[in-house]
Amino acid sequence: MSNTLYINGRWVPASEGGTRTIVCPADGTEVGVVAEATSADTESAIAAARAAFDDGAWQSTAPERGDFLLDVARRLRERKDEFARAESLDTGKRLVESELDMDDIAACFQYYGKIAGQDAGREVDAGDPNVSSRVVTEPVGVCGMITPWNYPLLQVAWKVAPALAAGNTFVLKPAELTPHTAILLMDILDELGLPAGVGNLVLGAGAEAGAPLSSHPDVDLISFTGGLVTGRKIAAAAAATVKKIALELGGKNPNVVFADADFDAAVDNALNGAFVHSGQVCSAGSRIVVEESIAEEFTAELVRRAEKIRIGGPFDENAETGALISEQHRQKVTDYVKAGVEEGARIRCGGEWATEGDLAQGYYYKPTVIDQVRRGMSVVRDEAFGPVVTIETFTTEDEAVATANDTFYGLAGAVWTNDAGRAERIASRLRHGTIWINDFHPYLPQAEWGGMKQSGIGRELGLHGLGEYQETKHIYHNTAPAVTGWFGDDQ
Ligand code: NAD
Repeated sequence: MSNTLYINGRWVPASEGGTRTIVCPADGTEVGVVAEATSADTESAIAAARAAFDDGAWQSTAPERGDFLLDVARRLRERKDEFARAESLDTGKRLVESELDMDDIAACFQYYGKIAGQDAGREVDAGDPNVSSRVVTEPVGVCGMITPWNYPLLQVAWKVAPALAAGNTFVLKPAELTPHTAILLMDILDELGLPAGVGNLVLGAGAEAGAPLSSHPDVDLISFTGGLVTGRKIAAAAAATVKKIALELGGKNPNVVFADADFDAAVDNALNGAFVHSGQVCSAGSRIVVEESIAEEFTAELVRRAEKIRIGGPFDENAETGALISEQHRQKVTDYVKAGVEEGARIRCGGEWATEGDLAQGYYYKPTVIDQVRRGMSVVRDEAFGPVVTIETFTTEDEAVATANDTFYGLAGAVWTNDAGRAERIASRLRHGTIWINDFHPYLPQAEWGGMKQSGIGRELGLHGLGEYQETKHIYHNTAPAVTGWFGDDQ
């Protein structure tokens, strides 16, 4: 293994010799130097994936593919410490969070390892005893995969595991800021004997190394996780070749709290929802929608707790949350909060960089609670992707639902109430792909994940997550061929 591209079963440098220095956002230190691909490298990787798919060997190995993925899960568990450390250095996230991510990643490979090859298709009644008619699934073909930096290997796993389970070949382009765990994963696939060309890795910038994956005619599916603006570009580029697309985009996720909810649990989970990983979570609970009668008490308690959150580097055992991914991203969050204030919002806590002591070396931003917001303001409309949460209020159930649905996103949301009937009613009315009742953030590899509206197209995880990587084919077998007589033969 080396910090290079992995194409057709070999570690290779970028064709033009390009490199990129990776920096830890917690303290600005250099983590490593990796290859930086050009679009020509990505085209080579696509050619390798195409040849491996067309050769057909990998598709015909369903039981072995399942065992292979179970082996990947085992090796991930064995190398968990090394992987978690690499993830924390690239992202700046707490080591304990990276360790939890590695558990989730192994669980994802385990899940798809267990279900690989189980789908035997189904017989359909053709209404003719001489016909056997069946519907089967097959791999889509060559899959392009483009992933973001916030959960670098987790987002990769959600694509690679089902894609391999279904018998596809792939070219992966992970986020350019956080490539190390993708490199480590390819090392495991290589060590376990994945056939050459089945899995390929290109590293580098989206517009150069990533773009061919959406536009190239030899790529059958592009699966993208990242921001809405990039997602639109990818969908537009993919349209020219009418390839399949799967998009997992952003969210502006409402956390609805009724006055009868368990107050302490609701406040605590609101903190988790908004500030875990410094809010750099697609499903962050960045909009609290709280019943008017408890709004001030709730906000005051949230602020009190938010001000106590300990900020620090990935290996600081006292730290409860970490850095933002880059200086540029911290500036984006800074500008976002500033725009909110200019539109009339009030900062209740945070709203500034954390620069005490060693923190000055990294890109830290204080947990920020904002109130006095109105619908339509940029802070309640746009994704901050930072430790920023807004407070909106409601007085009726209908108003709570209308406010929570007032977003062009539709990824996730939560409702807090001790009235189970109301909780279920609200859950069914919220237009978001995942709804938590009296909880925030849990997800399961066996349950579908993805967004409604502009949060995406398609689903990851669960059976549907496997289905994204499958084509459906109807095979109609007539065992008694006969002349139809439709066209005459009388000249
Ligand atoms: P981003 O869109 O800037 O980048 C994501 C990936 O796309 C990177 O690998 C990047 O190199 C690549 N890319 C950029 N331009 C490209 C182009 N023109 N062609 C091809 N590839 C291109 O997003 P980000 O800042 O890395 O990630 C943050 C975003 O990801 C947030 O909006 C977040 O909500 C979203 N996200 C969503 C989910 C989900 O499950 N829905 C999960 C994690 C993150």
